[in-house]
Amino acid sequence: MKKVAIGVDIGGTNIRLGIVGPDGKVHDRVSFLTAGLGRARLLSRLVRHISILRKLAAKKGWKTAGAGVGAPGPIDVERGFVYFFPNIPGWKDTPLKALLKKRLGMPVAVDNDANALALGEFFFGAGRGAKNIVVLTLGTGVGGGIILDGKLFHGHAYSAAEIGHLVINENGPRCGCGNRGCLETYVGNGYFVREAQRRLRAGQKSVLRQWTARAGQKLTPLLAARAARARDAFAVGLWRETAGHLASALAGLANVLNPERIVLGGGIAQNGAVLFGPLRAAFRKKAFSVATHSAKIVPAALGLDAGVAGAGALVYARQGRGD
Ligand SMILES: [Zn+2]
Repeated sequence: MKKVAIGVDIGGTNIRLGIVGPDGKVHDRVSFLTAGLGRARLLSRLVRHISILRKLAAKKGWKTAGAGVGAPGPIDVERGFVYFFPNIPGWKDTPLKALLKKRLGMPVAVDNDANALALGEFFFGAGRGAKNIVVLTLGTGVGGGIILDGKLFHGHAYSAAEIGHLVINENGPRCGCGNRGCLETYVGNGYFVREAQRRLRAGQKSVLRQWTARAGQKLTPLLAARAARARDAFAVGLWRETAGHLASALAGLANVLNPERIVLGGGIAQNGAVLFGPLRAAFRKKAFSVATHSAKIVPAALGLDAGVAGAGALVYARQGRGD
């Protein structure tokens, strides 16, 4: 009988679920909005959807080995404790693993969403076949996950891999965490757009000025990538700087951890050679050559299913993928 897992990706606005096969394929996706749900209703809805998916799996002749949950913020992985969750009132100090396990009667694994993503890429995506990888998700913030010797590295109090908060300039801009100059303040989506806008307002020339004036086009990293591909010097420079900041953090990580692969996902990372070209070049300059020779920087492979597949991988990491 084929063994499957149910993956649950709890995000700020949506909760996505699906049946995750041992090959990482996601079946029977469902999602619902988190807004307006208190803790009790959210838990009931989670239990209902997981039960439905379990029945669907059974109909296909699949055995559900357990449910894996990726949730934002710090999590006590062993106890499955979620300390807080910004958009859900009453979510403080919730023993999510115990609550779900009791109501579902099956094994439940809970981890930080960035760790789940990293595990998903490791099992099913761009990290497949490697033993030591670092995964970064470049979105509004910067999430990180580290896999060492084939296992997620959590650290002593499960708070490891906060790569977005590596300080790359102690006098840099203020970060949401209270520090200055964290990686996240240089390569997060928001910073990228704000910095581009500030420079355009200061009078720097770019095709982006015409593009954004016309037809209400919004300035996004994607648009800036298109400008860079059209050889707009301003946009090329912006991407080169972003790549440089990222390379500083990756070089430090490579010198410390000597990973085989560094996997980059999220919006900023979806711009191909515009980012990866200058990034690989700067990385080679900044890290020890032994580290750069062994580490490949590659784009993430799982796309929109990454969160659910990664949550499912949490189950496989504990139980294996065979019978
Ligand atoms: Zn920070």
